[in-house]
Amino acid sequence: MKIAFFSSEVAPFSKTGGLADVSGTLPQILAAEGHEVVVVTPLYACVDRTRHGLRHTSGRGEAPGLGGAEIWEGTLGAGGRSTARVLFLSAAAFDRANLYQETGRDYPDNDVRFSYFSRAALLLLKHVSFAPDVIHANDWQTALVPVYLKTHFLSDEFFSRCGTVLSIHNLAYQGVFEADRWRALGLPDRLFRMEALEFYGKINLLKGGLVFSDILSTVSPRYAREIQTQSNGAGLDGVLQSRAGTLVGILNGIEYADWDPSRDDNPFPPYGPERMAGKSTAKKILLEQFGLDSGAGGGDPAPALLGSVTRLDPQKGCDILLRGLFHILPRTNARFVMLGSGARDLEAAFANLARQFPGRVGVALKFDPKLAKLVYAGSDLFLMPSKYEPCGLGQMIAMAYGTVPVVRLTGGLADTVRPYDENSGKGNGFGFESYTAEALSRTVQRALHIYRQKSLFSALQQNALRERFTWGQAARSYLDVYSRAIRIRAKGGE
Ligand code: ADP
Repeated sequence: MKIAFFSSEVAPFSKTGGLADVSGTLPQILAAEGHEVVVVTPLYACVDRTRHGLRHTSGRGEAPGLGGAEIWEGTLGAGGRSTARVLFLSAAAFDRANLYQETGRDYPDNDVRFSYFSRAALLLLKHVSFAPDVIHANDWQTALVPVYLKTHFLSDEFFSRCGTVLSIHNLAYQGVFEADRWRALGLPDRLFRMEALEFYGKINLLKGGLVFSDILSTVSPRYAREIQTQSNGAGLDGVLQSRAGTLVGILNGIEYADWDPSRDDNPFPPYGPERMAGKSTAKKILLEQFGLDSGAGGGDPAPALLGSVTRLDPQKGCDILLRGLFHILPRTNARFVMLGSGARDLEAAFANLARQFPGRVGVALKFDPKLAKLVYAGSDLFLMPSKYEPCGLGQMIAMAYGTVPVVRLTGGLADTVRPYDENSGKGNGFGFESYTAEALSRTVQRALHIYRQKSLFSALQQNALRERFTWGQAARSYLDVYSRAIRIRAKGGE
């Protein structure tokens, strides 16, 4: 199959969240299965061209209709058959320090930037003569791709058999802009209506994609159901309900080679299911790095270390996490480390928590992938009390390091974390339903109770460590979805 994958962020080149992980991995897996995959993404100023060995493949203005953009090329994957080709669109619109915002404020021209990207990405495929069987667009940034295909490119033979899939990685981000920006999109006025891109008097780019794409997918089966309800539909539940028959939930996987505690290039000694000593060393290093008191010698087992690696955003349940910790910390001897960055008020609130519990709470307010590995490995329990969670990678990564997740059972967290049952010994973590600090606190205290029973907790760690959420399974599901999109396109509807 010839697959074009459009994404506004692709790890390891550019990343703000889980979308980058998916975009960096799925194309590689599909390529390894023998499919021909081209990834198209913007070339931001922050992408390190030298480190990633990117090559300049076109002169300025060479690509017709691309408004003076340049094309750069790189690869995803080890080389050979398993390599996905990555085309970077270099244009003034992306020559900025960050992807979408600076100092907490969205770039005011994000509508122009990403509508341009969506159109240019299609032109770029023509420029390199890659006629895809299917185009896989992602989130609001590329949601206009199916819209342009059914307007600007409607009678273009090049795309005439191409099916479209749009994946929703987070419904909260929809690309909503004021109505007076409509002209910037270059779309016919008849599309500014409720059945298309109009959304309560504004423009909603994601909605356009939801209406015009052949198939919709999102990143977990539970989230696919949740977003069709009024309480979790972020205003688009009606549109999503109307497309229920073509909305599929496919759980993300993680790349176990990247999140492997037994590698020797980790900031701690290698460990695995049969030799867990390295995990205890990781905990020591982590405590030291955050200047925390290990509490060793004060009883057996040593105090539990709770960890969190997250964007600091209300979505991640930071309010109940803070309130829960203010309740838990005085009643237990647990330690807590937070690696997170994002909203200024939340950063300040976690910094304050660290001041309130000196030696017991450590906070690093930054985005630091290397330190993240140490937090995943060195923690005993991983806290992820999200208000909502499309899929969530943190809980799966934590499990890969034998760190037991404590989560709110929503979206992908509910699809991946099976609450531990003391009687059967089954389960891989702890979970709670109600979005309250009390429920979180009760669940953490129950987890700490199990932690103190060493043999039970070791068995639970093993359950987590042996859990596998692989991309192979996800890739097979995406291929099914692609075939379905192609059939729908061929028939002109299902
Ligand atoms: P989201 O995409 O909503 O941010 P996910 O759990 O799906 O949440 O993915 C988050 C990804 O970003 C994970 O790979 C996680 O390790 C990483 N991450 C989040 N915050 C940080 C941070 N402060 N430093 C390093 N990595 C982080």
